[in-house]
Amino acid sequence: MKFYSTHTSLHKVSFREAVIKGLAPDQGLYMPERIPVFAKNYFDNLHKKTFQEIAFDVAQAFVEDEIPTDALKAIIDQTITFDAPLVEIEKNIFSLELFHGPTLAFKDFGARFMSQVLGYFVANEKREVIVLAATSGDTGSAVANGFLGVPHTKVVVLYPSGKVSDIQEKQFTTLGKNILALEVNGTFDDCQHLVKQAFADPKLNEELFLTSANSINIARLIPQAFYYFYAWSRLPQKQPIIFSVPSGNFGNLTAGLIAKRMGLPISHFIASTNANDSVPTYLKTKRFNPKPSVATLSNAMDVGNPSNFVRILDLFQSHFSSLASDLSGYAFSDEQTQSAMQSVFKQSGYILDPHGAVGYLGLKEFQSKNPQTVGVFLETAHPAKFKEVVESILQINVVVPEKIQAFLLGTKKSTPLAVSYESFKEELNPNHAIENRLV
Ligand SMILES: *Cc1c(COP(=O)(O)O)cnc(C)c1O
Repeated sequence: MKFYSTHTSLHKVSFREAVIKGLAPDQGLYMPERIPVFAKNYFDNLHKKTFQEIAFDVAQAFVEDEIPTDALKAIIDQTITFDAPLVEIEKNIFSLELFHGPTLAFKDFGARFMSQVLGYFVANEKREVIVLAATSGDTGSAVANGFLGVPHTKVVVLYPSGKVSDIQEKQFTTLGKNILALEVNGTFDDCQHLVKQAFADPKLNEELFLTSANSINIARLIPQAFYYFYAWSRLPQKQPIIFSVPSGNFGNLTAGLIAKRMGLPISHFIASTNANDSVPTYLKTKRFNPKPSVATLSNAMDVGNPSNFVRILDLFQSHFSSLASDLSGYAFSDEQTQSAMQSVFKQSGYILDPHGAVGYLGLKEFQSKNPQTVGVFLETAHPAKFKEVVESILQINVVVPEKIQAFLLGTKKSTPLAVSYESFKEELNPNHAIENRLV
């Protein structure tokens, strides 16, 4: 299978190259040249397969022979080390809990698969590959935990000092081994700018093997299709199924649309957003007007210009009516999010995090117009990840899972960094710095 760039479909690369490059040279996003389709009877026995077996089938449909069967099985086993249970919280409403991984958010699936795949592809490289990750919190922890101990790789996380939560910071500063945390005396944008400067520096890229763990990497997208198949296979009723996806950069939703194209019988998707509503607005007005992001309770979805939107347009060849027949979009305020969290807790005792609550609201809205449908919303983060917010809204104590408590006990190790490209380069390439000093 080859992968093309959403900008110029003529430029096609292997899976390996798409993973290592991340972004295409023309700044487009990689897409598979065709969407593999499973035979109808494949779905008859899906409920008998394990999560790992299902994930393997989906992955292999894209990876084909670029990774041999045994190696791909090992990659899947390292990726899926935790379950994604379905919990029926009301009649015909299921929560798909994607937060049982090491950093308590669905990004663990993408980050773990990508780190294993990249580790496989660079295993025979003489040079170590350096993964650069600028983070405002969540991506850094998922990526660092995914790459921890993967041979031939080193992760450099850049994060804005004092601007990430205590839990988030501990999740990438206490790991050690092949994870280096640079605590930048600046903002998230400064961190991202330093990373961009490094990629745009031809000399540095000659000296070092740099790559990014950006959320647009195709190896983060593919594993997000796994759990749509798995969830469908575990549902008691099969028709018609609706998925509501709380969305920010729209990677999760794109993976769901791809799963449907592969033959998975999903009847409709809902793009559920907070006040950052450029996609729901597009679905209403046919006009896509990205706006600067606004801060909300569901802050991992505060994205004004979703990077995967081009992939969605590409899947539907910008054909609005076919896109609109697969996808509806609704946006919700923080007040609506809070009252959904309160009413669900009161009714069933189920604790939604603010992101899952937006997904729940989207599903409710759709079902109010389409009764009798069975729906799943993606619960993308553990409520303990947003402990203070959830506790103040629900007036309860949220128990932090043991694996996170272990992080909190660890000792933070980070290297302070000024917003200076020269200092950043010295951290990346210590030998280079010594040479410079000698001159
Ligand atoms: C990243 C994130 C989202 C948004 O996912 P996208 O794929 O960017 O749309 C939703 N919820 C949580 C908790 C996240 O961390």
